Amino acid sequence: MSLRWSANDPLHAETFQFGKLKHGLQHLKSSSKFVPALGSKPVLRSPPSSPPAERPLKRLHTAAVSEDEEMDEATAPIGLEWDGEDWSCAYDAFFTILYDIWIQDPKAWSRRFRAIDNKYLTTLDTGFQQVFAEELSFEDLRDSIRPMLHALNPDDFPWGQFGASVGTLAYELLKPQSSVTLNQHMCTNCDYEEPEIDDRLGYALTTTGPQPASTAKWIGGLGHHSHDFCPECQARMTWKIFYKGFPSILTLEYPDTDIKTSHKMFFAADDQKVTLYLRGVIYLGGFHFTSRIIHSDGTVWYHDGQKGHACKKQGHLRSMEDKDLRKCKGRKLMLAVYAQE
Ligand SMILES: [Zn+2]
Repeated sequence: MSLRWSANDPLHAETFQFGKLKHGLQHLKSSSKFVPALGSKPVLRSPPSSPPAERPLKRLHTAAVSEDEEMDEATAPIGLEWDGEDWSCAYDAFFTILYDIWIQDPKAWSRRFRAIDNKYLTTLDTGFQQVFAEELSFEDLRDSIRPMLHALNPDDFPWGQFGASVGTLAYELLKPQSSVTLNQHMCTNCDYEEPEIDDRLGYALTTTGPQPASTAKWIGGLGHHSHDFCPECQARMTWKIFYKGFPSILTLEYPDTDIKTSHKMFFAADDQKVTLYLRGVIYLGGFHFTSRIIHSDGTVWYHDGQKGHACKKQGHLRSMEDKDLRKCKGRKLMLAVYAQE
């Protein structure tokens, strides 16, 4: 039994109607671009940073703070500090959001991350536990994963003063070991449908086809056009894509589009309903990624690794319009991260 979506978009009053959407989306990038170097042994380069002993765990300190600020300090996400020698902003932005998701419920998120069965994400989870226990600095964790990714693809994950794509990073970290989606060839007009088959779509998505109105509608209408006609009524067929289970996390990459960033999206199957919340947005501008981290209470935090570990409170998601989410200090939205609570 696959899950059928009901995606509600809080930014709009409309509710997505499954099967009524006329447009579809090509799923994922071409496979040729993402052929992993199977069988190749990762060549571990020593991390470009100083060893853990020389880099003390940094805690944020403020000389004199008000009660509000103390409260902020206690709940503020912990950001990664940028590496100016081997540009790290893609990792800084994505890992900062992932850690903030993880730290809300380490036990649940360890289980969820490990269920994806991806070696980079599993390594990150192990590292998060060490960072949490203050046995490892966040930067050293980042720098232990970078050589693995560099070994996988030196062009996508370079050293030096070159950037990595945050979309490619999300794709490699959230790529599940086994298929998590099904696709089904079905008629747009009658009840005709062919058997469901495994699909390659994972948890990191990118826009390629016609644009949906919002991210919730995008997820609600996953699929793509078919060139075939229904054998029963001759109407146009379509490919629909379904997740086999509730996703715990999704990343959506949609730079330079008019797609509205939904604040949440709902997944429903039988009598169960699961909500994925907008938990982070990554921005790009001037060859540098920055991020916003959004807490479940709607508090929005800003992080720029070039400014250090600190995340600055920027207000509340409710009081931000979509245009405010599309830009952040002159940088443009690249990717959004949605996660369960
Ligand atoms: Zn038909």
